[in-house]
Amino acid sequence: MVDRLANSEANSKRIGVVEGCFGAAGQPLVIPGRVLIGEGVLTKLCRKKPKARQFFLFNDILVYGNIVIQKKKYNKQHIIPLESVTIDTVPDEGDLRNGWLIKTPTKSFAVYAATATEKSEWMNHIAKCVADLLSKSGKAPSGEHAAVWIPDSEATVCMRCLKVKFTPVSRRHHCRKCGFVVCGPCSEKKYLLPSQSSKPVRVCEFCFVQLTSAGGGYAPRSDSFGRQGFNSNLSDDDDEDDSSD
Ligand SMILES: [Zn+2]
Ligand SMILES: [Zn+2]
Repeated sequence: MVDRLANSEANSKRIGVVEGCFGAAGQPLVIPGRVLIGEGVLTKLCRKKPKARQFFLFNDILVYGNIVIQKKKYNKQHIIPLESVTIDTVPDEGDLRNGWLIKTPTKSFAVYAATATEKSEWMNHIAKCVADLLSKSGKAPSGEHAAVWIPDSEATVCMRCLKVKFTPVSRRHHCRKCGFVVCGPCSEKKYLLPSQSSKPVRVCEFCFVQLTSAGGGYAPRSDSFGRQGFNSNLSDDDDEDDSSD
């Protein structure tokens, strides 16, 4: 994380530059009271593989996008309101080191910094911004978050029936509720999860039964499956070809 600017004029100038880097397709970022806390490249775990993304931490939002030209041009802008963010550290595993989860009601994913110092800087700054926002608004921290998707590569067979092998014709799908990689027959049902979409989304048979059972006593995956999805999670936002899965 670099370029922390205390001076407010320099800060709004810098925010203007960031806004310009996203071009006309991006949202306006310069608003009164907004401060750019830090920025840097993080590796975002996507459905197929980890990808470099440029991140900007403001005092109220987290913005990221694809890098077209380093420090000059970004696209596919995503804006996450920090008020709804919770973060969790991810233990190092193999090449994936210095990671943490960014969890929100609409989407959740893992990111990785280049060094342990960078990771703790990012996590500390994000936590501080979220805490400041919540204390200002008097709101409680976000309790609900979207499932973090298990990467395709983690599953060679369906994680629900444990029978169906994935092949080019027997394709992988993701349950929107638990994030598991499942086969078609195990995920024929759709269910309305309003925080994720205005339309019903694909859920696995297990989650469908939980969601529709009387009383709605659904246990989130983090409780019932522990650490399994934790190291290796992702979301799907920049793999448009997979968006129907
Ligand atoms: Zn299956
Ligand atoms: Zn499920």
